[in-house]
Amino acid sequence: MQVHESLYLGGEWRPALDNAAIEVRSPSTEQLIGSVPAAGRADVDDAVAAARRALRSAEWADLNPDRRAALIDRFADELVADLADRARLTSEQNGMPISIALPAEGQLPVGLLRYYAELCRTRPVEERRPRLDGRGSTLVRREPVGVVAAVVPWNFPQTLTMFKLAPALAAGCPVVLKPSPETVLDAFELAAAADRAGIPPGVLNVVPGGADVGEYLVAHPGVDKVAFTGSTTAGREIGEACGRLLRPVTLELGGKSAAIVADDADVAALAQRLAGVSLLNSGQTCYVSTRILAPRRRYDEVVDAVAGVAGSLTVGDPLDRATQIGPMVSSRHRDRVEAYIELGVAEGAKLVAGGGRPETDRGWFVRPTVFAGVDADSRIAREEIFGPVLVVLPYEELDEAVALANDSDYGLGGTVWTSDVEKGIDLARRIESGSVGVNFYSLDPASPFGGYKDSGVGRELGPEGLAAYEQLKSIYLSH
Ligand code: NAD
Repeated sequence: MQVHESLYLGGEWRPALDNAAIEVRSPSTEQLIGSVPAAGRADVDDAVAAARRALRSAEWADLNPDRRAALIDRFADELVADLADRARLTSEQNGMPISIALPAEGQLPVGLLRYYAELCRTRPVEERRPRLDGRGSTLVRREPVGVVAAVVPWNFPQTLTMFKLAPALAAGCPVVLKPSPETVLDAFELAAAADRAGIPPGVLNVVPGGADVGEYLVAHPGVDKVAFTGSTTAGREIGEACGRLLRPVTLELGGKSAAIVADDADVAALAQRLAGVSLLNSGQTCYVSTRILAPRRRYDEVVDAVAGVAGSLTVGDPLDRATQIGPMVSSRHRDRVEAYIELGVAEGAKLVAGGGRPETDRGWFVRPTVFAGVDADSRIAREEIFGPVLVVLPYEELDEAVALANDSDYGLGGTVWTSDVEKGIDLARRIESGSVGVNFYSLDPASPFGGYKDSGVGRELGPEGLAAYEQLKSIYLSH
């Protein structure tokens, strides 16, 4: 049981100004595993004020990029030291199988810090360009955009925090982080590691709370930029608030990505990778390919393969290394996923794997579920379920598969499966989505990640992810 009595604001641990607490429960045991103080509005005011002071402080603002990069590297060193414990903490809070948490929540945040430390070191802050009219030159400068409000969800809490924190630090921006109530404990570990690494006071501040605290933070007058990952519904509200305030905002939102299985696909390879590509983190991953589009000629073969894999996955204790599918993050979310399964049946789709809870006396588990004979216009084929529920749809020609893949409000991830890589690249080019994998799917931190359409605005990762935390200035010179 982890009990925190203080908040990390302005480089100090101090009690919250209100008495409210946030309790965290294990989704597999349903037991209480920790509690933290909830930040109130006055705490958010303090956090933003501390971040504003840090933005101008000599201790942070006057650091040259090399020294900032060295601090970021030291932060990464601190995170390496407790990598296994941090991965375990994510598993305990959100039920992520530990075999996924170790690379995705343990290692990846470290890799992101190292990557952005290197960019910070090597990317020039100023660049002198000849003027177009030939009369002198222009000095183009990158400056920190200012105080960042980072609001993150519970599904990959540490990594999605680091998608924002690492480039923000590299750009020179202080951050006020609002973690999700379901997974608030790891944010305290990140803050402690940053503190040990010597990240100056006010450069990272953590305000635990729910949507109300998030809403207050993103519209706060002391914030200069908002970076949000979460649902499309909340993203729209945040986007509206930022639009009114003319505040730059990055929105990483929901998805309902497609896997196009071409006529010449190696279905065994799809089956082998399905758990990672379509069911990662028990389906609680924004980019997973949950709509599988199969050529009519091979439809039954694909349905059998997908259902076979789904039915064979080990569901259970997320801390057991053999577990492939853990619980849903909360009982409320489990109910939502189950309601979609009931809806699928009611819509006339055919259940070919899973379909409900496994026989356990506790934990918010849902068995991996596959529907065949699904109508492309049905709700289970169109809406984000965010659980281990897949639909398999038939198509006649590849053009129809591309049209079906693109007939979605979302455009975040996706995969194409073919033995002809050039054909795969061609298909990937035609998909309206921010990222597509050919015969696999794996995020590349050195390349941009983000959504088309309702899946978001802007990009994280890569140098593009750093640019989102920079403000550009042109200084005109007559020589
Ligand atoms: P959510 O939108 O309910 O909450 C996300 C975070 O935003 C939480 O910290 C929450 O407290 C806060 N929040 C909620 N409403 C807010 C508001 N109006 N103003 C400010 N803050 C607010 O999402 P969730 O259920 O925690 O996460 C699941 C969703 O996140 C899914 O839709 C998933 O696809 C999406 N997601 C997207 C990506 C991506 O990179 N595109 C990655 C992971 C998850």
